[in-house]
Amino acid sequence: MKRRDFLKSVAMGAASLAMPRGILAGELFKSKPNIIFIMTDDHASHALSCYGSKINKTPNLDRIAEEGMRFNNCFCTNSICAPSRAVILTGKYSHLNGVIDNRMKFDGSQETFPKLLQKAGYQTAMIGKWHLKSDPTGCDYWNVLPGQGAYHNPVMIEMGQRKKYTGYVSDIITDHCLKWLKAHKGGKPFCLMYQHKAPHRRWEPAKRYAKLYEDLDIPLPETFNDDYKTRSAAAAAATMTIERHLTRSDLKMDPPKGLAGQALKKWKYQRYIKDYLRCVASVDDNVGRLLDYLDTAGLTENTVVIYTSDQGFFLGDHSWFDKRFMYEESLRMPLLVRYPKEIKAGSVNNDIVLNLDFAPTFLSFAGVAKPAEMQGRSTLPLLHGNTPKDWRTSMYYHYYEYPGAHMVKRHYGVRTKRYKLIHFYRDIDAWELYDLQKDPSELKNVYGNPEYAPIVKQLKAELARLREQYSDSTGGVNPKKPRS
Ligand code: CA
Repeated sequence: MKRRDFLKSVAMGAASLAMPRGILAGELFKSKPNIIFIMTDDHASHALSCYGSKINKTPNLDRIAEEGMRFNNCFCTNSICAPSRAVILTGKYSHLNGVIDNRMKFDGSQETFPKLLQKAGYQTAMIGKWHLKSDPTGCDYWNVLPGQGAYHNPVMIEMGQRKKYTGYVSDIITDHCLKWLKAHKGGKPFCLMYQHKAPHRRWEPAKRYAKLYEDLDIPLPETFNDDYKTRSAAAAAATMTIERHLTRSDLKMDPPKGLAGQALKKWKYQRYIKDYLRCVASVDDNVGRLLDYLDTAGLTENTVVIYTSDQGFFLGDHSWFDKRFMYEESLRMPLLVRYPKEIKAGSVNNDIVLNLDFAPTFLSFAGVAKPAEMQGRSTLPLLHGNTPKDWRTSMYYHYYEYPGAHMVKRHYGVRTKRYKLIHFYRDIDAWELYDLQKDPSELKNVYGNPEYAPIVKQLKAELARLREQYSDSTGGVNPKKPRS
């Protein structure tokens, strides 16, 4: 053994002695950092310039990527607001944490990462959009929007007390975070959940951004006129098209008289996407304010800053707004992590990571072993630039909210680095397969193409394995009683 290797193994041995059970060498930060978890609502990664957006710039969010790590393949396990939030808090799939769709109330008595961090000596706070119907638990301080909350002059519930504020929601949530950070004293590390409402529907911008992009035409996405020709009937059944399902309240004005067909669809897209991006702008500038504060307060070095959104979003892709489907734009989440002490600036990770991994990751930041019931895995080795040999090479997805808003049929599926197999069920029994290498835009369903028969067989076996691994036996065709 070379001297350097010997010293390394001694150091690792010593470190492992000090480690809590369930945490491996290389899965621990050297000191307990502060954690700021920034989550927005419905911010697709293709609307961040650090992910190559063709439609906007996000200089402040890009800072987190430039000074930290960008994850290119972070996916959610159920692409809808409340379910993703419940997965993030618990590290468990929807069928186990109980929030399978937006109608369910989160059972706050179950184990969550804020509770475990609190037990480990962290000061915890949850400020902004919560969206889980029950009150936050495991938080020393909470101040949340009721339900979806309002963009302008929002009411917030501070530790059970309702109060109305004057101003724009992204600014107000950030003001509360800064106030809480400034008051934080006592030497304890903290975990702040800083959660925006923007850019959720109905996309009401701050006054300062009302005219942003006014004289521009935002480019159309490549799949704007997807005709769903090779897809199952699930695509055409969804009620979330730019053409027919944006309401007067979404568009905020009537279309010019005489517009029809493609011209009308394009007009609606411009109305929609500009307001969406204006809402993103208010997230970007406010995150900039927070990062600046960390700099001036001397907190940057010792604070992990995470940026994500609860899921992705269709930005006119496949003719849609909204999310829910297992297709890329909705499945993919932005994930940026900065921690100057231990994460290399400007680094990029391409492994498959999930919202399921967030809770175990945050626990490992604090040196807390994850409970056995948590199904995700800490991404900390990835953040150190070392992907474990047994890191996952496939992910499991399950969406349930049907019948329901936007009528996206229930489906589950598996995604590997190259392929995606989806099974739509309940009042339909249809499979779709995409070869993401040949068809990254998922325009050509190749399920049923004999060339792919061996792949289908492998993926079905992998899907069965994952369903077994995550104890998911829910979902079937034509169940006698609707599952809820
Ligand atoms: Ca959402």
